[in-house]
Amino acid sequence: MFLVSPTARDLLQKIAQDAGIPYRDVAKRINSEMEQGEGFIDSVQALAKEKGLPSKDYVLDSEQIANEISTILKEDYSQTLMISAVLGQLVESKGEERFPPPAFFVFLEVLSDVTETPRRVGDTPPKNVDEATTRIIELTTTLVSLLCEWNVEGVVGVAKDCPDSLKDIARSVFRKTKLLQSGMWVCVSCGRIVEAKSTRALLCEECNSGLSDGPSNDFGQPIERDRTGYGRTSRTDESE
Ligand SMILES: [Zn+2]
Repeated sequence: MFLVSPTARDLLQKIAQDAGIPYRDVAKRINSEMEQGEGFIDSVQALAKEKGLPSKDYVLDSEQIANEISTILKEDYSQTLMISAVLGQLVESKGEERFPPPAFFVFLEVLSDVTETPRRVGDTPPKNVDEATTRIIELTTTLVSLLCEWNVEGVVGVAKDCPDSLKDIARSVFRKTKLLQSGMWVCVSCGRIVEAKSTRALLCEECNSGLSDGPSNDFGQPIERDRTGYGRTSRTDESE
């Protein structure tokens, strides 16, 4: 229904194929250049140039990617809650499958701008949650690598070529990542800054125990319901 944006993985696959280099080697090289502070697109284009490929073929459109994330999150309210729950679980998990916190912050930023998600009327569960979740993971990890400046420590600022329309997102991601690095966390429900080690499933202790009567979030729902969706990550089967 909408334009599907190429992601970072697509771009790496393309250049691997065009240059005849194994994908894994390409990914490794780009990664290590980003750790030295090089931008994602700049690194890919430098490789293209080196291989005699036209660098203009290797671009990504961050505004289009942001729009696609927002389009998916507007599709279906229950689906969006389920995606939030899965991502919340992945960001808290340890090891390989861990969803990087900066990408999760991008997700939260886009989510907070989504207001017109249709409520589900019937009781049919949303169909493609897994597919939509995988897509959101690809898109948010791509977007955060474009909007933010990186080095070996992770996000270190807003990318020089971040479009104006997305600078607020980039700033917020940077701020929250810094907080997290210093051992603090922004409660995804009430927005208060708390010690990261005292959080329960992304929530501050009060929100987790249901004591907080903070403001309802931008999703326009009583906070209690959403909190279940964001925080209690195992309850994705909850029906409306
Ligand atoms: Zn809270």
